[in-house]
Amino acid sequence: MTPDVLFVGGGIIGLASAWRAANAGLQVTVFDPAPGAAASNVAAGMLAPVTEVAYGEEDRLALNVAGARRWPAFAAELETATGADLGYRATGTLLVGFDRDDVAALSDLHAFQTELGLEVEPLRSREARAREPMLSPRVRVGLLAAEDHRVEPRACVAALLSACAHAGVVFEHRKVTRIEQQRGQATGVRTADGEQHHAGQVVLSAGAWSATIEGLADEHRPAVRPVKGQLLHLRDPSGQQVLTTTVRGLVRHRSVYLVPRDDGRLVVGASQEERGFDTTVTAGATRELLDDAAAIVPGVDELELVETIAGLRPTTPDNAPAIGRSAIGRLVIATGHHRNGVLLAPITAEAVTAILTDAEVDPILAVAHPDRTGAPT
Ligand SMILES: Cc1cc2nc3c(=O)[nH]c(=O)nc-3n(C[C@H](O)[C@H](O)[C@H](O)COP(=O)(O)OP(=O)(O)OC[C@H]3O[C@@H](n4cnc5c(N)ncnc54)[C@H](O)[C@@H]3O)c2cc1C
Repeated sequence: MTPDVLFVGGGIIGLASAWRAANAGLQVTVFDPAPGAAASNVAAGMLAPVTEVAYGEEDRLALNVAGARRWPAFAAELETATGADLGYRATGTLLVGFDRDDVAALSDLHAFQTELGLEVEPLRSREARAREPMLSPRVRVGLLAAEDHRVEPRACVAALLSACAHAGVVFEHRKVTRIEQQRGQATGVRTADGEQHHAGQVVLSAGAWSATIEGLADEHRPAVRPVKGQLLHLRDPSGQQVLTTTVRGLVRHRSVYLVPRDDGRLVVGASQEERGFDTTVTAGATRELLDDAAAIVPGVDELELVETIAGLRPTTPDNAPAIGRSAIGRLVIATGHHRNGVLLAPITAEAVTAILTDAEVDPILAVAHPDRTGAPT
């Protein structure tokens, strides 16, 4: 049977959108050789529009804030559908600085956040340590972003896989090589085994690989490249939680974050590297992450190193996602989420489903229109 919608790629973006689309009554098939196993399996899970705000990227702040606001209801709905705990924790995020230059940088950031109307509370070192006693006494000043929360991305992916299956989504564990078109309309895909699969509409949600699928002219191909990120999982051998809130720090100009998990893990990340599709874990990045994490939480040295991993952020030239209708008919683009794919999964799924069902799309998504990104660089 020809599905109404065929998703190319089942990471958190494809899965969340497939689930929503199936719930809207569409027949959905997801093509992915390893659903949920790429960047979405690596992500730290920060839902952090406030502490992620970057100079020159103010235009997408409203999208990121709206994305964060979708999370409580999305998590509750997915938890009800599956009985899973997604690890959504509204515990806020603490931002700390290590040396004098870091403190100056944080003070500039605070001024910028305030100018943008974001709520951030300055804390003295003592106050920050009262919240998180494991912080180093050498940590100077802190900022508390009470609205930047966290979730467990692996739990989300597992829940989405189960919710999709329950909602009737069909999974094809195959690699798509080409989007097929006729007279400017997407008609389906071709898979690596040479088979053609027809569909009413196609959604391109293949993360960092979105620009590698053939069949689209350069001007219609999303300008997405992989940006490598390496990250570590640590754990207190006694099972104690090292931190209760996410802590982000600047250590000698380098930024590092420590995200607690309920099972006692502490996720430390992340590098940002332009290395194509390479996902090698390197000694240098591991050492830098451990050094920076230990500067903020000295007890890190005593923790067990339980996992090292690298993933590829799907990244556009201006770092904003590409979500919307392609100029090719019956083709929807949902990719390029860079550092915020977990944060933006619920709002992306909502937008993709609105497009697929010809409903109104929230105008806040205008900043992410795919035509904005043009040809691959
Ligand atoms: C180290 C690191 C930390 C991060 N931390 C955070 C964070 O704290 N908060 C946050 O919001 N975001 C974070 N991110 C970003 C987030 O992980 C991504 O933005 C998000 O996972 C992108 O989801 P996706 O579904 O687009 O891509 P992916 O999860 O990469 O999924 C793409 C899918 O497409 C499939 N695919 C690829 N090619 C094909 C093909 N030819 N045919 C069929 N299927 C194909 C792949 O198998 C894969 O399953 C982080 C990323 C990294 C690397």
